[in-house]
Amino acid sequence: MKTFTILKPDDWHLHLREGLVLKNIIKFTSDYFGRAIVMPNTKNPITTINKAISYKNSIAQALPENSNFQPLMTIYLTDETDKDELIQGYKNNVFFAAKLYPANSTTNSSHGVKKIENLYNIFESMEDSGMPLLIHGEVTDSDVDVFDREEVFIDRELLPLVKRFPKLKIVLEHITTSHAVDFVQNNKIGATITPHHLHINRNAMFFGGLNSDFYCLPVAKRETNRIALRKAATSGNECFFLGTDSAPHLREWKAFCGCAGIFNSPVAIESYLTVFEEENALDNFEKFASLNGPNFYNLPPNKEKLKLVTRPNKISEFVNIIEEKNIVGKIKPFHAGETLNWQVEGIVK
Ligand SMILES: [Zn+2]
Repeated sequence: MKTFTILKPDDWHLHLREGLVLKNIIKFTSDYFGRAIVMPNTKNPITTINKAISYKNSIAQALPENSNFQPLMTIYLTDETDKDELIQGYKNNVFFAAKLYPANSTTNSSHGVKKIENLYNIFESMEDSGMPLLIHGEVTDSDVDVFDREEVFIDRELLPLVKRFPKLKIVLEHITTSHAVDFVQNNKIGATITPHHLHINRNAMFFGGLNSDFYCLPVAKRETNRIALRKAATSGNECFFLGTDSAPHLREWKAFCGCAGIFNSPVAIESYLTVFEEENALDNFEKFASLNGPNFYNLPPNKEKLKLVTRPNKISEFVNIIEEKNIVGKIKPFHAGETLNWQVEGIVK
């Protein structure tokens, strides 16, 4: 049995949802992660200071007792975002960062930005104040092939943005291509990488029939890209850090409409560890999970430690959503039914 400890990790990209789902799933993150950047694409997106405060309160209420987990809130940028409110919210520690969704790029993003140039005066203020810009990097034009949308976004939108705002703190979220890996390294911006993009390529969606369990956005790409992502994540390079993009959907909705998103938070750490072990890079896991992110965001690393062990770890088929002791829904986690070789043993003080 192998055992090692790392500083407690953070999740730099997470969807916590609301209401009953939030109450049932938050423990999977708050048990083992110190902080998480909470995405603002709730049904009614988080576009103002008041909405962010009330969402943060509902997260606090959903947390297990005595939890010291810290949700870091984000504002959802729209064509109508008020610059003064954005900066005021950042300076008063309501917003940790701003999230840019090109309109209709993913779940609940119909309010997103239609033309990025419209936000240039906002980016100017963000650059001045040090407020990070988190980007869902895909164009949404229907004439661009869905597998090319990240690459086209980088060349068409991100490159001019980086050139025009060289001091703006940018994170390209959930990268999926070797093109993104190269761009991030060459331009010294940050990037999060999900566990699922390290494990699956696009074949997974078509194995044994059309399978929406492996459908997420940006969609998984071909194998050469997966290999490039694994190399980047396990390299120890400080540009790359942990962001699960865990995005739960109730079973009936996933089956019915094939919504985009993979729920990986119950198994995220073990899933990443599997990759790092396969790549002979366990020594770099702490950098990716616990150090590179705080370093990028100018935050101290967490103080507590997490103990990890090798032990057969059978992942359950479903996570139950429970209301007053009744099962009212089910969500399928990533790696459902598989046995992984790693397990989180717990927090070491
Ligand atoms: Zn996301």
